[in-house]
Amino acid sequence: MMTVFDVLESEVRIYCREFPVVFSKSRGSQLFDEHGRDYIDFFSGAGTLNYGHNNPRLKRRLLQYVEEDGITHSLDLATSAKREFLENFDRIILNPRSLRFRVQFCGPTGANAVEAALKLARKATGRHNLIFFMNAYHGLSAGALAVTGSKSKRLSAGLPLAPSIPMPFDGDLGPAIDTLDVFETMLENPSSGLDTPAAVIVEAIQAEGGVKIARDAWLSRLAEITRRHGIVLILDEIQVGCGRTGPFFSFEPSGITPDIICLSKSISGYGLPMSLLLIRPDLDIWKPGEHTGTFRGNNLAFVTGREALTYWEDDEFSDEVKRKGALAQTLLLNLAETYAETRAWVRGRGLIQALGFDLPGFASRVSKIAFDYRLIVETAGPRNEVIKLLPPLTISDAELTEGIDRIGRAIADAVSESRDSANAAAMAALSTR
Ligand code: PMP
Repeated sequence: MMTVFDVLESEVRIYCREFPVVFSKSRGSQLFDEHGRDYIDFFSGAGTLNYGHNNPRLKRRLLQYVEEDGITHSLDLATSAKREFLENFDRIILNPRSLRFRVQFCGPTGANAVEAALKLARKATGRHNLIFFMNAYHGLSAGALAVTGSKSKRLSAGLPLAPSIPMPFDGDLGPAIDTLDVFETMLENPSSGLDTPAAVIVEAIQAEGGVKIARDAWLSRLAEITRRHGIVLILDEIQVGCGRTGPFFSFEPSGITPDIICLSKSISGYGLPMSLLLIRPDLDIWKPGEHTGTFRGNNLAFVTGREALTYWEDDEFSDEVKRKGALAQTLLLNLAETYAETRAWVRGRGLIQALGFDLPGFASRVSKIAFDYRLIVETAGPRNEVIKLLPPLTISDAELTEGIDRIGRAIADAVSESRDSANAAAMAALSTR
């Protein structure tokens, strides 16, 4: 039956094709469709709902603020909600980490923060070239597309993208090769043909790219190379920041200090649009209004974002994410062992975990069957070869275990499907002899 979504909504929609029900409620780690069926959410709005759906602490603050006629929209006017957010962000996140940054509120998408970061790096260096890494995802607006890897997404721009050069990410040339040798050699050879870039943009863990983790030593070498050559280092923390990997920032274990950090998705904590840059103070050379936008003052997001920061007042929440991450990884390793014929492997950090399969199309099949078991889990990687687990960080052990159990059931079904089709093919081959 055709629905209003099929008839009226653009062909561009994607997630609703993969998870084809109509959702009407959500709470914690669960979504409910309009028939009241419950689903475990291992997707969390692509990493936007780290504190769970309708987190009661955040919701209480929000309702109180709305009830008192607090300002909703304010461009970049000063408001008391923004002041509360900034003061607490400085006190809870920046100060304890000895980070000195200016905060720029961008238009409400991650891509807009990336746009702003790239523009600022060009302006600060007077150069235009950008370095990004294979399999990177930084957004789909024209500027951000220039540093996003996907061939089909790049083609969708329909115009030549800004000057940018991809480099292999850590591990892309096998474990024995430090891929930064390529970049450094090219930078230092005056005849390499590589114009010194304005910026290098990198994810410490490539999320859409298939949960590829840069080693700490690789990241700190990258920071050292960029510093030595006066190149702006931009860390895209949009998907893996806000505690996804355990610490607030995913690059923290490497000890580096980036020049610019992009944050969005879970920074408001409630799924309310918000996006910002953290800028090394001497790089903050914008003229007033040079990068502006109508929706840079979402005060509802400031209110919930401020409340979400209370999770970071001490180490308890971060430790819990690490503990649950270890639990998830153990359970996934058990699945990989049980279904060894799928050539499965596991990697991740904290509550971003990948279960990969070296069988083409298998991960997509598992994701599809898992949905029949009422689990929402996406695939990632250049060939959609991994199941990417991104549950709310507030998920209970029981829900985490149950969700992974559903993945197990989906794998079992997908394995027997493949056996059946292999048998059918063998039978067909026999009968045509
Ligand atoms: N950077 C990263 C690392 C992302 O994961 C995303 C979104 N998946 C973006 C940028 C773009 O964010 P948005 O979709 O809000 O523009």
